[in-house]
Amino acid sequence: MVGLVTVAAAVGFVAGRRRDTSPAPRPGTVLPGDLEYVIDLARRANRALAGAIVAADGSEATSAHPRGVPPSVVDRALALARLARSDGRPQTLQDATPIVAVATDEVAAALVLEPESPPHVLDRVRTDLEQLVAGLARARTPGATRASGPWDEDAWLLVHESLDGAGTALCEELRRKSERAVVLVLRDDLGGALRVVALSGGADRRLAGTSALPGSTVARASEGDTPIAGLSLEELFGHPRADRRRGATEGIAFPVTDGRLPFGAAVVFGPPATLRSDARSEVQRLLLRAAPRLAHLQAVQVREQRAHTDELTGLPNRRGLVRAMATPEIRCAALLMLDLDHFKQLNDTHGHVAGDAALRHVAGVLARSLREQDLATRIGGEEFALWLPETPLDSAIEVAERVRAAVAGTPCRWRGVDLALTCSIGVAGMPATVSAIGLLYMTADAALYRAKRAGRNRVEVGRRGEAADSGMPVT
Ligand code: GH3
Ligand code: MG
Ligand code: MG
Repeated sequence: MVGLVTVAAAVGFVAGRRRDTSPAPRPGTVLPGDLEYVIDLARRANRALAGAIVAADGSEATSAHPRGVPPSVVDRALALARLARSDGRPQTLQDATPIVAVATDEVAAALVLEPESPPHVLDRVRTDLEQLVAGLARARTPGATRASGPWDEDAWLLVHESLDGAGTALCEELRRKSERAVVLVLRDDLGGALRVVALSGGADRRLAGTSALPGSTVARASEGDTPIAGLSLEELFGHPRADRRRGATEGIAFPVTDGRLPFGAAVVFGPPATLRSDARSEVQRLLLRAAPRLAHLQAVQVREQRAHTDELTGLPNRRGLVRAMATPEIRCAALLMLDLDHFKQLNDTHGHVAGDAALRHVAGVLARSLREQDLATRIGGEEFALWLPETPLDSAIEVAERVRAAVAGTPCRWRGVDLALTCSIGVAGMPATVSAIGLLYMTADAALYRAKRAGRNRVEVGRRGEAADSGMPVT
């Protein structure tokens, strides 16, 4: 048990009690029952939600938080541990719920951490896990080979919960098989645009997010079931001025199909004629395996986006604002609450359609007035909230004044008439005005009220203690 005590000490947790049901181990070996014990120790020591450990002979154990975590969380830990083992190197998954996995020849272990765990926690857990697996010696059964079922083969894909993660993993896998740069293009939504959603290393980063136009090679491959070669970027993506100077510009577009309907293509760059036939069939095989998972993740992403987006303006909605503000580690931020002045009057005079056009117009003005890290959201009828992370109060006041002036100075052109618009803005900053993110909303709203009472078309700054102490009210 020397090894185990060392392991327990290494993960900073020494158990006072040990189950004695397993047979006495040979020195330097760990039995399957021990795997369970060890990963449970590691999970508790690191306050992780779930853990998984995989040994070279294929034996495995998992541990989950006693309050219960979804089975998918445990599965992901197991998948990443398997991936670390088959790859023989550490893996960190930076999804909403981060996972860290490390491996030696003998054993791999993974821990699923609390959502939003900061990078230094991930580093610490990785160090702990490295000590853990280094301290474990697994008895090799003579003649045992590495288990490699279908599960193992797809682990690289299944560990990812986001389209971004799975798409990138697929591109990297395709690159390994083909030894060429790869991009993945998927159709946005039913009948929507074809957009580059993921790239492998070696691919031109400027392609990220760009679309493939109707009639292009990619578009045609995405509608059929056979790979099509394209001899230039222009041919592949249909952009009239596609840059021909950088990187490989020719390639083959392989359809991505879920078995019934094609919904995208993977472009494997490089001279089409010299792609070996075994690489070509390997690419097709991988795409066939990955497609159902991609289709699922894409559907989830579309649903997510819809739930967080305001249909009229395309800005994030109230839910989008709440999600953006859910950053507990942030120390400095500001929130601007903006309400259009006398908007009812505009509706009454020109009609609701004009009012809607004005709201879309204001959304555009806001988006143009903000910096890249800021977020404009529409949280209600003619009310907008602007989230400015890492912004001190005085800068936020400057932004508010700039936004106010931009709205007042940019009338909305509507059927040949200029609709004049003004807005009132309330500003609150953390830590200058309030001590917690949850108080920003109420304080900025109170300041907005003062701006209205003081005559509109102006900016007011929230005062300490102005808002009721009632937590996050934007739900
Ligand atoms: P104040 O300066 O005090 O804010 O006056 P106001 O008229 O803007 O405020 P009030 O809250 O009385 O009216 C808001 C109006 O915004 C009511 C409604 O007609 C209009 N509104 C809310 N949502 C929409 C929308 O989606 N489209 C259009 N066209 N109008 C909307
Ligand atoms: Mg108003
Ligand atoms: Mg209002």
